[in-house]
Amino acid sequence: MILPQGPSLNPEQIREITAIVESFGCHIQPIVGAVRTIYAIVGDERDELMINRLEGLPYIERIDRIQSPFKLMDIRSDLATHKIAIGGVTLGRKLLVIAGPCTIDPKNPNYFYETAQAVKEAGAHVLRGGVWKPRTNPYAFQGDDKSLDILMEASRRTGLPVDTEVMGEDQLKLALDAGVPMLQVGARNALNYSLLRQIGSAVAGRKTIVLLKRSLHMGTLNEFISAAEYVANFGNPNVILCPRGTAPALDGYRNHPDESIVPLLKERTWAPVVVDPSHSVGRASYVPACALAAIAYGADGLCIEAHVQPSKGIGDDPKQAIVPSVLAEIIRIAREIWTLRRQAKAV
Ligand code: PEP
Ligand code: MN
Repeated sequence: MILPQGPSLNPEQIREITAIVESFGCHIQPIVGAVRTIYAIVGDERDELMINRLEGLPYIERIDRIQSPFKLMDIRSDLATHKIAIGGVTLGRKLLVIAGPCTIDPKNPNYFYETAQAVKEAGAHVLRGGVWKPRTNPYAFQGDDKSLDILMEASRRTGLPVDTEVMGEDQLKLALDAGVPMLQVGARNALNYSLLRQIGSAVAGRKTIVLLKRSLHMGTLNEFISAAEYVANFGNPNVILCPRGTAPALDGYRNHPDESIVPLLKERTWAPVVVDPSHSVGRASYVPACALAAIAYGADGLCIEAHVQPSKGIGDDPKQAIVPSVLAEIIRIAREIWTLRRQAKAV
């Protein structure tokens, strides 16, 4: 929908906008109001170049889009009935909990094995563990290929499916070859379209699930959903959205906790939403409140950093990993909120 600066466009301006939209296979339908005439774009109005050309005209105030910018992930798409399942949980039907250390310590694998068993006993369905790590400081530990064996061994010992982040094509191949069922796209890479393209095409035709973190700098929800759409566009729609806090940080927290966007996402997309409270708040003591708030907001699940002895962990674990007993409490209360929420008709 084209909104002009003034009450209406003159014939020459109408000719100019008509020529632009016709070159993209659309046409113009004026809608005459009492004080203002607006111009509907009839046809597929998703082409960014067409919109940019129109928005660049000095006599245009703005373009309001009627169509959703995403075909696959839209709440009204044919895929809206698609269900994603892992670890015995079908998302949307039961609360999904992903838990485990931030980072696997290849020198001390027993912490990972013990944590894997403990998060399973606490009720987690998927084991997380960073094999390769994006770091704020490039000289900090960035992970180790050896940790992939530790991750898969923990999966065998516990029977839990695993989730790990990949940041490049080599890691993607290693993870898929090892049989990792859930690949994480980290916040620093959520807008890295070449990585999203590599992941999307590598998982096409497989059952692999992609856990897409929200970028620290994603301004709009549509940017977040469009990134998921880009992955799904290659053929595998198993994409989960993961809000994990944004920048700038809220005073006292690591990031700006963003679990409150869940209802907004749910209005626009069918994609399941699994909130990561650990990176949102960045301190173990704040994680329970953020996790439970996420469920109250309607999240389908949680991705939480947990460790049997956080002070002995590496990466984010000393600061933000919770211990398994706290995880068990969060899961217990979260399940109650989850059930109450779904029983209540009005909320
Ligand atoms: C992580 O999950 O450990 C991690 C680095 O997450 P994010 O990409 O959200 O910072
Ligand atoms: Mn982490």
